[in-house]
Amino acid sequence: MARIMVIGGGIAAFAAALRGASEGFAVTVLAPARRQWPEFPETLNAAGFRTLLRLGLTRGELVRNFPEVRERISRWGDSPVQIESRIPGLQGPVVLGKAALTSILRMAALERGSEIVEVEGLTVARETSSGLHFSFSRDSTAHEMECGFAIDASGRPGLLARKLGVRRITLDHLVSFWIRGPARPELACSMATMSIADGWVFWISDVEGVASMALFTAGRKLDTQVNAAYILSCAPAEILQMMTSHEMWTQSKVESFNASSSVLEQAGGSFWLACGDALQTFDPLASKGVAIALEQANGAALAITAALGGNRSMIAGYRKEARVSFSRYVAERNAYYGHPCE
Ligand SMILES: Cc1cc2nc3c(=O)[nH]c(=O)nc-3n(C[C@H](O)[C@H](O)[C@H](O)COP(=O)(O)OP(=O)(O)OC[C@H]3O[C@@H](n4cnc5c(N)ncnc54)[C@H](O)[C@@H]3O)c2cc1C
Repeated sequence: MARIMVIGGGIAAFAAALRGASEGFAVTVLAPARRQWPEFPETLNAAGFRTLLRLGLTRGELVRNFPEVRERISRWGDSPVQIESRIPGLQGPVVLGKAALTSILRMAALERGSEIVEVEGLTVARETSSGLHFSFSRDSTAHEMECGFAIDASGRPGLLARKLGVRRITLDHLVSFWIRGPARPELACSMATMSIADGWVFWISDVEGVASMALFTAGRKLDTQVNAAYILSCAPAEILQMMTSHEMWTQSKVESFNASSSVLEQAGGSFWLACGDALQTFDPLASKGVAIALEQANGAALAITAALGGNRSMIAGYRKEARVSFSRYVAERNAYYGHPCE
């Protein structure tokens, strides 16, 4: 039987492997030997939650691992502060630990029979007349593998696409700077998004009363060193009030992450599809990166299993939908910011 290879070691990679294996196909995941993903608190919207249920995860497992957001504060531009309290029954977002979700999906993919090969690097990938040929290194030894179809789920590097010569278009220079510190305990699982002069500030607190705060701004325009004191100086009063021990916040380590929007020039080729951040990245303000990564991983695996069964129409449908939905996102984003992407 033709093998499906998945490149990546995150949410999209294991979700795709889980779907492919559940459809009865042989799946091999080439995951990085040293796992690295930025671990900052994120939110999962209700659509993403539903995709996880469709992938076979149980409601109980999800509720146990990922608490609901209890209160959401937002303010954009000159509009007044809005507060939504206790979003009930998982209709709203949940607070997500990406490492925890990745390991739940990894375990489920393994249980369904996927093979996970930890690689040090993908050295070559090329299309053949009947599929793809990969060369990679593992335990400092070179290996070769063939497959009928592959899924690029390698996140922002878009590794397979890059090896196959597909260009990535970057739309802006948004970066995020994160600090952590203690929060008022009664505000566990609350989040806030508030715009400031040069961007916006995001706040999220976990069940243990520890919160993360991020400054999102256009990296190109920064003319100052971003330390914790600078990030705190950007925070609106509503967010500062949620902190305890201002001193601990001032001493926090600062971590920075690329948050730009970007997209591949094409979502795949004759024998491969890209999904999740490997295909496109969204402004985190949209709060949909994880949900889209899950939905596309599921969709890409279904399109590929259909193609291996002789029906290639879903491949074309997947690529078309990816193009249309990213154009829709760009239009929404431009309308939200009130100007086209810089
Ligand atoms: C600051 C910030 C805040 C965000 N907040 C939210 C939020 O609140 N809600 C939300 O829904 N989304 C959010 N997102 C987006 C979300 O994090 C991503 O869309 C999502 O994690 C994409 O998952 P993925 O599996 O496609 O990619 P990733 O999570 O990046 O996983 C890709 C995997 O591929 C692996 N890989 C890389 N190179 C190789 C290689 N050579 N070989 C094999 N594997 C490789 C990586 O190590 C990684 O494990 C945020 C993003 C940023 C930057």
